[in-house]
Amino acid sequence: MKVLKIDQEYPQDFMRVFLDITNLFFEDTKLAKKDMTPDLVVHFNHYTDEHFTIIADATLQVNEQFYKSHFEQKFETEGTDKEQKIRLKRALSHVLLDTLEQMTEIKQQWGILTGIRPTKLYHKFRKAGLSDDEIHDKLTDEFSLTDEKISMLNSIVKNQLKTIPDLDTIGNEVSIYIGIPFCPTKCAYCTFPAYAIQSNRKQGKVATFLDGLHYEIEEMGKWLTEHEMRITSVYWGGGTPTSIEADEMDALYKTMFDSFPHTETIREITVEAGRPDTITPEKLAVLKKWGIDRISVNPQSYTDETLKAIGRHHTVQETIDKFWMAREAGMNNINMDLIIGLPNEGIDEFEHSLSESEKMMPESLTVHTLSFKRASEMTHNKDKYKVADRKTAEAMMHRAHDWTAEHGYTPYYLYRQKNILGNLENVGYSIPGEESIYNIVIMEEVQTIIGLGCGASTKLVNAETSKITQYHNPKDPAAYILTFEDAIHKKIQALDELYGFEVSK
Ligand code: SF4
Repeated sequence: MKVLKIDQEYPQDFMRVFLDITNLFFEDTKLAKKDMTPDLVVHFNHYTDEHFTIIADATLQVNEQFYKSHFEQKFETEGTDKEQKIRLKRALSHVLLDTLEQMTEIKQQWGILTGIRPTKLYHKFRKAGLSDDEIHDKLTDEFSLTDEKISMLNSIVKNQLKTIPDLDTIGNEVSIYIGIPFCPTKCAYCTFPAYAIQSNRKQGKVATFLDGLHYEIEEMGKWLTEHEMRITSVYWGGGTPTSIEADEMDALYKTMFDSFPHTETIREITVEAGRPDTITPEKLAVLKKWGIDRISVNPQSYTDETLKAIGRHHTVQETIDKFWMAREAGMNNINMDLIIGLPNEGIDEFEHSLSESEKMMPESLTVHTLSFKRASEMTHNKDKYKVADRKTAEAMMHRAHDWTAEHGYTPYYLYRQKNILGNLENVGYSIPGEESIYNIVIMEEVQTIIGLGCGASTKLVNAETSKITQYHNPKDPAAYILTFEDAIHKKIQALDELYGFEVSK
C-alpha cells in the first residue's frame, strides 16, 4: 500500500482520478490524511495561455528522488467551464501517469484511461464523425494509449458494426437479462450471485425464487406486448442457469416464449451453462426443444490442480466431455471462458489451455484476466493464492491475441475491471459470424437492458441523451422472494417514464 499526497486542493472527482491512476501501479493506494506520512508526493503546476493551450507540469517526489513531466495541448476555442475542467483533469492525469511510469518503469498500455469501456469512447468519436486516423491520433495524444490497444479497439468496433449493422439505432429495442442465482459451489474469485443450489433447494428457496421469476417474466411480458417492444437478445446468466433441474428450465422457457412478444424476431438467446458439472442430456434436450443453441461451457483452466484451488469441483475431463455432449445435442454456438492469472498458473499452463481449446474450437473464446473483486474469497485470503506477475500476465494476453488470430478468431468485445491483474482487460474473441449480440449491446450501453431475477441490473438507456439509470434486483434469493412484486412494478414505472408512456399504477 502507498500513501499519496497531492500538495494542493482539487475537486473530489480529480482526486479520484489521481488515485485511480496511481492504483494502476500500486495496489490499494490511499490519499494522505493529516497524520499520515506520504510515500508519494505530487506537486502540480498548470495554466491556460491566451491561445487556449493548456500547460501542465508535475513533479513526483519519492524519498529523495524527483520525477518530472510536462504536457501541452492546444485547443481551437476557450471551451465551456465543463470542457475546461475535462481538459485540466486530462492534462494532470497525463503528467501524473508519466511521472509514475518513469518511477516504476512500467508502461501503461491503456494510458490515462481508467474506465471499463474503452470501445465506448471509440464509438463516441466515430459517431462524432472522426475518421479512424483522427481517432488514432486522439487516443494517442489525449489518452496515451499504445498503438496495439488502439488497433485492437479499431478491429472490435468494426466487428461490432458488422455483427449489428443497426448498432447506432438499436436503442429502439430492448434486451433482457435473466439471473438464476445458484451454482453447485462458489468459485474463489466470484462475486456474482451464486448460492449453493443443494442447500437452498432443501430450504425451499429454489422453488419460491422460481415462482417469483415466473411472475416477473409474465409481468414484463405484458408490458413489452402492450407497448409492442421488440427484443434484440435474451441472456440467461447468474449464477449458473443450468444449475436448476431440466423440468424447471423447461417451465421457465415456456413462460418466456408465452409471455414475450415477437419471439420469432429475437436475434439471440444465450443460456450460460458455465459449470460443466451442471450439464446433462436432459437439460440439453430442453434447450434444443426451445431452439436455444448458444451456451457457455467454461473451462477457465485445463489444469485440474487449478480447478481444485479455485473451488470449481469439476475436472478438466468433465469440461471436455460436456462440451462434446453439448455439441452432439445440437449446440451450434458454444462459448468457452479462459482466465489468465489463476493461482499457480504461468505461460505453460495457459499454453496448455490453448492447445486443449484447439481440439474443440468453440465458436467463441472469452479470455478474462483475473481480477481481485473486493467481496471474493480470493481477495479476502490473497496470501493463500500465488498469481502471475504483471509481465507474465501480459505475455499470456499477447499469446491469447496471437493464438486466436492464428486460429481464425477476431476480437469483438472488450472490457476492463478494477484491480485486474497487470491492468489488462477481458476480451471476447469469436469465429466471424458467431459473435454474441448481447455481449456487444451490454458493453456498449446502446440500448435498455431489462434485468429479471436475482442480482439482475436493469439499465435504462435514454436513446436521445444517452443518460443511463440503473435499477438492481437483490442478489440474495431470500431478499428477492420478499421484494420481487414491488421490484417489477417499480421497473415498469421506470420504463414507462423512460419511453414517455402513461405511468402504470
Ligand atoms: S460458476 Fe460462475 S457464477 Fe458460479 S460461482 Fe463460479 S464464477 Fe460464480
